[in-house]
Amino acid sequence: MKSGCLSPELKTAGLVSRRATAGVNVPGYSKTGIRKSKTSWWRGAALITLNLFMIAHIVQWRFMGKTISPIEPSETMYTLQRGFVNAGFIFFTLAILATLIFGRFVCGWGCHILALQDLCGWFLKKMGLHPKPFRSRLLVYVPLIGALYMFVWPVVYRSIWNPEHQPLIPKFTNHLVTTNFWQTFPSVAVAIPFLFICGFVTVYFLGQKGFCTYACPYGGFFGLADKFSPGKIRVTPACNQCGHCTATCTSNVMVHAEVKQYGMVVDPGCMKCMDCVSVCPNDALYFGFGKPTILVPKSNAIKRSYSLTWPEEIIGTLVFLGSFLAVRGVYALVPFLMALGCAAVTTFLALKMWRLLRAKELSFYRFNLKSSGKIRKAGWAFAILACAWIGLNAHSGWVRYHEFLGNYAFQKVHVPDELALAQSNPSRWLSSADRENILDGKKHYDAASRAGLFVNSEALPKLAWFEYLLGNAEQSIQLLGEAASYQKDESKALSLYYRGAILNRVGRHEEARESLDEALAERDDLILARQEKGESLWQLGRRDEAVTVWTDAVQRNARLALANNELAGAARSLGKLEEASAYEKQADQFTPNDPFYHWMLGRRLQDLGMTELAEKHFRQAEQLGGSGETR
Ligand code: SF4
Ligand code: SF4
Repeated sequence: MKSGCLSPELKTAGLVSRRATAGVNVPGYSKTGIRKSKTSWWRGAALITLNLFMIAHIVQWRFMGKTISPIEPSETMYTLQRGFVNAGFIFFTLAILATLIFGRFVCGWGCHILALQDLCGWFLKKMGLHPKPFRSRLLVYVPLIGALYMFVWPVVYRSIWNPEHQPLIPKFTNHLVTTNFWQTFPSVAVAIPFLFICGFVTVYFLGQKGFCTYACPYGGFFGLADKFSPGKIRVTPACNQCGHCTATCTSNVMVHAEVKQYGMVVDPGCMKCMDCVSVCPNDALYFGFGKPTILVPKSNAIKRSYSLTWPEEIIGTLVFLGSFLAVRGVYALVPFLMALGCAAVTTFLALKMWRLLRAKELSFYRFNLKSSGKIRKAGWAFAILACAWIGLNAHSGWVRYHEFLGNYAFQKVHVPDELALAQSNPSRWLSSADRENILDGKKHYDAASRAGLFVNSEALPKLAWFEYLLGNAEQSIQLLGEAASYQKDESKALSLYYRGAILNRVGRHEEARESLDEALAERDDLILARQEKGESLWQLGRRDEAVTVWTDAVQRNARLALANNELAGAARSLGKLEEASAYEKQADQFTPNDPFYHWMLGRRLQDLGMTELAEKHFRQAEQLGGSGETR
């Protein structure tokens, strides 16, 4: 028997009839007397091949620097939100269409997380431990809710609120090939605990399909699509209700009962692994087409047993929600799927602990946790582990709470970047509300970092910005450097850009140039870093190079008012008046009619020694502002 544990229904009904050879090693049969599944070998081979393909994909990208974008359903989010047509979107769409016809085969035969879960189940079985399914009535809705949150909610949000005024249907662009394969994935340091928790810990505590049942959002859609599919595991009259199929199914489907009641397996958790078909002693099961689940009237004849009472279900749901909110995104490290997996495990441990305190007898696997009201050694060990896990969740919740309030305060500060970066101390632009928010946000970020176990690379640049706005440029430079050392790609480039800009403002131009070069090495398309680098070079006396960099910037974006002004100033200083006037015209065309913007241009040009142009903008600022407050 593959799972090794009988469902309570089978135990009660005493359905599994053993062969006379039960307990004896007979080729083709397990010790329990149930035929071994032949398809499990084929499925194992398919999943190993899948993993080898995934490794080959990464190796090919590493060697060639370019490859097909990740074939991962989560990539669909970028298609729906930004219009990036990528391989993940095409795969997910085809997989859902295939599921609508053939049922949920993709999960059983083509998912690397399921492969990990199966591997873990196999290891545990070798150790004599048979994962027992955790059965909840409410938490089974988590995958579908997760899927709606990932794929539907952003579209709904955009269609109702749309704060960034994006079109409801984004402009589609081709992203089938990428040079940055890992861009949307967590770092390896996060991927390892992610796979450990989602592939192994969930199996140990929640059963062999623990992650699929209580966390996987893709499974939420596949399960829904399965209800509409005509392809099902179906039965012939040869079935004698022996129960071998149910005992074998690692997806906790009550196969014998469903085929008796409906003539087919209707549970959307069925991943079409075909084990039940293979082990049936009467060859009564087959995969065939007919009515989909959705057209079959539901019957109450099949009574399922659950691991939880109704009050426990409600408490469990609250624990799940609390744990999910506590760990999701904490330290900017825990991704959505991992948070769902963690929350499912926390729920199990919290409820088991509750029972450990209340029940007279309690066991877990073959371990006796409590007997005759006395907690045994294994019980104490379990309690220590559960308290450590739950304590870690609570601690993450505390850190997350401060991070959340820090982020909230950050969003409430509205000093435009251009204005703040126009001079080394921007504190004059802060209103009393801004100052209050900054101090409040700083307090929360400090509390989060004092209590935190890891550095939050997303909070650091925000804290750095708070410091800069308060006039602490040196502190800000140091924090941005620290943030960049933990970041990658766009966020790293941005931290380095801001660091370079602040270094320029405080007159450390060589360090600024280095920081801006690093930013551009990370993201070549960060035009503001190019514009800022030109300023470093100009200040360092490398004027030809500065002009080249500014020219490059305006070629990439002709609307850059500051870079066009800088080119005009540079041309004037060389006596090229016609050229200067052309750049000036170009700059004026894209300069907002805003006194503060003109003042910012004046400040930056004044710093570069382009005084004539600077004066022009100061005058315009005063004319527009009228009060001279920009001076
Ligand atoms: S389908 Fe096969 S394995 Fe399942 S109960 Fe019927 S006879 Fe037994
Ligand atoms: S019902 Fe059969 S095919 Fe479906 S998951 Fe269970 S064993 Fe596999």
